[in-house]
Amino acid sequence: MIPYLPLKEINAQYEPQLSEAAKRIIENGWYILGEECRCFEQEYATYIGCGHCISCGNGYDALWLIFNAYIQLGRLKKGDRILVPANTFIASVLAITHNGLHPVFVDPDADSYLMGEKEVLAAIDKEIKAVLLVHLYGQNSYSDRMNEECKRRGILIIEDNAQAHGALYGNRRTGALGDAAAHSFYPGKNLGALGDGGAITTSDEQLAQCIRELHNYGCSIKYKHDRIGVNSRLDEIQAAILRIKLKHLDTDNDKRREIAKRYIAEINNPAIKLPHYEEHCSHVFHIFPIMSEQRDKLAEYLASQGIQTQIHYPIPPHKQLCYQEHGNTSLPVAEKLSAQELSIPCHPTLGSDEVTYIINAINSWRAE
Ligand SMILES: *Cc1c(COP(=O)(O)O)cnc(C)c1O
Repeated sequence: MIPYLPLKEINAQYEPQLSEAAKRIIENGWYILGEECRCFEQEYATYIGCGHCISCGNGYDALWLIFNAYIQLGRLKKGDRILVPANTFIASVLAITHNGLHPVFVDPDADSYLMGEKEVLAAIDKEIKAVLLVHLYGQNSYSDRMNEECKRRGILIIEDNAQAHGALYGNRRTGALGDAAAHSFYPGKNLGALGDGGAITTSDEQLAQCIRELHNYGCSIKYKHDRIGVNSRLDEIQAAILRIKLKHLDTDNDKRREIAKRYIAEINNPAIKLPHYEEHCSHVFHIFPIMSEQRDKLAEYLASQGIQTQIHYPIPPHKQLCYQEHGNTSLPVAEKLSAQELSIPCHPTLGSDEVTYIINAINSWRAE
């Protein structure tokens, strides 16, 4: 059996450092908002190339905190319209609606699967106040031209970088491209904790200060609450684990890219569409998506061959019951992707024999 993402095996790569770090924190007795957290924030800010990093409880909270801070600072207001790709994980949309903002779903490009420059420029109008870019599957969706146009119109660019830690646009990292970015350290992400975790990066001093208060009960100094905040913090054990794993992120991403390059070069089944890969843009392949009109049959066949797969995502947000008021929006590309996408194993401990086995299995499959 080739599992989709063997987290136990992936994390075993960093032993005994992970266990030693956990033990050190258990023994030193400081568990929240301490030295590990402060160091991780600094190291991650440096890695991303941003002035500020504020750690928090998870990726959803990171997104929510960004929108909430912009509202508290008067730079967004309730009811403002926010562009968001229609084929994202629901957290991106929940962070918008839980802040009383209005999501405007954008159909992604049929080949890159992204809401990129073309889609954003076609969708922005006077009513749009912010764009939530999602670097889906590990691939950058930002461009300077998009940013210039948004700046000229006073539109904020927020990045959902949950799937793209380490991806580049030119020589700049995703997470340092827009006005603010949200990161998730959910265990399955490219930089994953051993529990929940998240962070916000920004070079905006005022925004950073506001989020630093909001994520810790709106507290400016202890027991003084200037803003209505929440509790969303990264604990010391997770911060220490992330500091260890951050050092290996680029090597791990290289391994994912090598596997993806082999898939692209060697999978040649006409019934399957492969993702685009451009050498100059460094996709970090959080997910390797293949498309097939007979996706469910393909998944069943691969399972019979001992290959575990996943679907990202089977139902787009606008077709979810919780967002039924958006149910009649026509988003044909997003709907087609949700019917055809299949994610195959692509992670740093996948061996080259396993990659060969997966390629051969996919090439031997015959669509009906
Ligand atoms: C994982 C993910 C999130 C949410 O992160 P959590 O840490 O699970 O809250 C948000 N957006 C996208 C695109 C994701 O993949």
